[in-house]
Amino acid sequence: MAGKLYLVPTPIGNLGDISRRAAETLEKADFIAAEDTRVTVKLLNHLGLKKPMVTYHRHNCDAAGPAILRRIEGGETCALVTDAGTPAISDPGEDLVALCAAAGVAVEAIPGPCALTVALSVSGLPTGRFTFEGFLPLNRKNRRAQLDSLAAEERTMIFYEAPHKLHATLDDLAAAFGPGRPMAVCRELTKLHEEVLRLTIGEAAERYAGQEPRGEFVLVVAGRPPQAEAGDEDAALARVWELRREGMPLKAASAQAAEEYGVKKRTLYNRAVQSPEQGL
Ligand code: SAM
Repeated sequence: MAGKLYLVPTPIGNLGDISRRAAETLEKADFIAAEDTRVTVKLLNHLGLKKPMVTYHRHNCDAAGPAILRRIEGGETCALVTDAGTPAISDPGEDLVALCAAAGVAVEAIPGPCALTVALSVSGLPTGRFTFEGFLPLNRKNRRAQLDSLAAEERTMIFYEAPHKLHATLDDLAAAFGPGRPMAVCRELTKLHEEVLRLTIGEAAERYAGQEPRGEFVLVVAGRPPQAEAGDEDAALARVWELRREGMPLKAASAQAAEEYGVKKRTLYNRAVQSPEQGL
């Protein structure tokens, strides 16, 4: 009888976040496939467990995946873990799940810690609809192209990012979405130095300028505000006065309202200048 692949989430920074079911699954599995056995052994020591382990990571997954599948088909149960979080989310676990699924082998996911849901839930941004973008491409041209393709995205966007690329990514986010777009920079979630900054993309870039960012980051970026029917200039003008009443200068208010309502910036500004409400 074929065995089973269990996807076992592990803490993203706080050992207390391992669930009872995750621990029981690790205990019962015949063997553990780990991204880095040195990291996993610390968790096993914390749980008082000793288990046979194999490695499964991005550099050996082509050979290790089929070898793990053969053992499962032979009747063993395997618990897949990564260094942190939910296996198969932005890591090669997705290939092993696909391999097992294609071979008709049962896969069972245990729910647990995942950086993207922790960041989204604490971001303060709309959570009803969101898109997870994982890591942006390394190559700057491809990264910008991917961000440009998200220019009209209205859902909240979630990105994983490495600290040494944070500056470049914040600049690229500002170029793609504008520096005024709200975002949350979520750093070292669940760890001692957890930090959640809710600000605009421009403010985030300023905040980190001249600093060497440290730790692990999830960037949560607001989607584009829903746009009214293109050409709805009267509604855009009403929005200009709303923003003026909040203290925004006329030019900036016209630019923001034009973006929100999909009308021409210059035309809206000219109408605003000629409008009797201008002296507001
Ligand atoms: N499978 C993992 C999960 O469920 O979140 C993600 C693996 S991915 C290789 C690693 C990335 O997750 C990091 O570069 C970072 O963007 C994010 N991450 C992981 N732990 C984090 C933490 N404690 N705080 C913030 N981001 C974290």
